[in-house]
Amino acid sequence: MVISANFKTNKTREETKEYLNTLEQNLHPSTSSEIIIFPPTTALQHHIGRVEIGVQNSYPVERGAFTGEIGLEQLEEFGIRTILIGHSERREILKESQDEVAKKFQFFAEKNFKIIYCIGEPLEIRKEGREKLFHYLENQFRDIPLEYSNYTIAYEPIWAIGTGITPTMEEIEEVLKWIKEKTDRKVIYGGSVKVANIEEILRLPSCDGVLVGSASLEVTDFIKMINISEDISKS
Ligand code: PEP
Repeated sequence: MVISANFKTNKTREETKEYLNTLEQNLHPSTSSEIIIFPPTTALQHHIGRVEIGVQNSYPVERGAFTGEIGLEQLEEFGIRTILIGHSERREILKESQDEVAKKFQFFAEKNFKIIYCIGEPLEIRKEGREKLFHYLENQFRDIPLEYSNYTIAYEPIWAIGTGITPTMEEIEEVLKWIKEKTDRKVIYGGSVKVANIEEILRLPSCDGVLVGSASLEVTDFIKMINISEDISKS
């Protein structure tokens, strides 16, 4: 299973180091889950251990004149090979278009990165019914090369992100299953995942893991979530 954490604009470099140390010290040696942490860009670091470090965003270039952005060269300095693409906060707040998102996917796929590709609908679309919902989600696959081997799709309904509201298990399963009809890569869920609800989410037949925001910030909670995922994998 994939158990990933998106710190967003939280934690300093020092706090991230401390978090990673605590996490590594508390992971069971036989942990089988794929654990990925996406810290803020200033906290990117070389890390040796069970935990993988990914970047929350990068500009699809090796280097160049793109003020305020970082490219491949800056990621390579820290051995980063994993990237989050299409997160709703980048699509909605930073106005990244599907064209830009797809360009990023294509660039980093060409560089053989592991990509966690996020899709998800706003509440207005969800309220308009299933046809509108799947049409909206389908558009987020435009120009995404689904034949690429190293990616995971994260379904994150925008109305569930950071709100404490989670869709029903039936609603999550329906979308994850629909995604699985398009690709045989892993499909994970994100949106107000926490210690209290991770088990029922991970037990959904089409769920291969989670992307956790707010609830990952407390390392003890994140460790509890990893342990729950391990128990499920063994059962
Ligand atoms: C996210 O932003 O990817 C996320 C899932 O956030 P939260 O867990 O806080 O809803």
